[in-house]
Amino acid sequence: MRLLQRLAGRATAAFRSVLDDLVTTAFPSDCRVCNGPLLRSTILPICDNCRTSVPPQTLAMCRICSEALDIDMESARFASQFMDEGLLCDGCRTDPPKFERAVAYAVYRKELREMIHLLKYERMGGVAKLLGPMLAAAILSIKAETAQAETAQELIVVPVPLFPSKLRQRGYNQSELLAKVALAELHRTRPDWRLRLQSEILRRRRDTRSQFALNPTSRYWNVKGAFAVNRNSIRPGCEVLLIDDIYTTGATARECSRALRRAGAGKVWVATLARAQTPRIPVAMWDETRSHSPQGFG
Ligand SMILES: [Zn+2]
Ligand SMILES: [Zn+2]
Repeated sequence: MRLLQRLAGRATAAFRSVLDDLVTTAFPSDCRVCNGPLLRSTILPICDNCRTSVPPQTLAMCRICSEALDIDMESARFASQFMDEGLLCDGCRTDPPKFERAVAYAVYRKELREMIHLLKYERMGGVAKLLGPMLAAAILSIKAETAQAETAQELIVVPVPLFPSKLRQRGYNQSELLAKVALAELHRTRPDWRLRLQSEILRRRRDTRSQFALNPTSRYWNVKGAFAVNRNSIRPGCEVLLIDDIYTTGATARECSRALRRAGAGKVWVATLARAQTPRIPVAMWDETRSHSPQGFG
């Protein structure tokens, strides 16, 4: 075991990932997500319960960016009947993004947050095999809206790139791994769809800071101008599906979409595995009980 770990320390990041998987299979430990015991030997040290504990989002959401809205589902359905454009968040109303729509499979929390952490920071590339099918489900929810649904036009799939030094350090681009698994799943279930992975289209030209510790304004400036498009590989008017692991404030998705549209992409769609949602107290938009409240705050 110690010898294997010593070997792992010297190996490249990609090779280390494979070696870690082998060590885990040979010496099963606890689940890396919930710390519960693993009841069977498995390549990925994640228990069956955690693997199946990621419910899809069922919130009332912005029609463009999927930001959770401060209303309940019933009110959202009621309101949508009277608004052709659907419900929009403040950000999309005041400053519409250059993408058509961004969807995410689940809220970024609990088991999903832990699994994404293992994928990005613990060199466990194999976790993408569990998460990719969830991304495929998110892609399914926008696929019908793309031009391909009517014209059989190809949809170009582009993962958000890492800066080269970050890519070398991690050994892989987690968004590209997720995209590959999701596409394999979709090729199997929907062989009639034409989805083509073209990772070379987008390149990160600055080593940006991690967005997570930054406030929304800093996030905007952190990624401003950070992406370049390889114009030789993009066909004018094509539709692009941008893939990322997490959508937080949308600064990265907005900036990548801006660069892709400027380089000639006709439309850009965004699919992420997870969506950070601000915790809110659900308030009914037209809650009749509020107007009868004894405090008279309705
Ligand atoms: Zn677990
Ligand atoms: Zn929005």
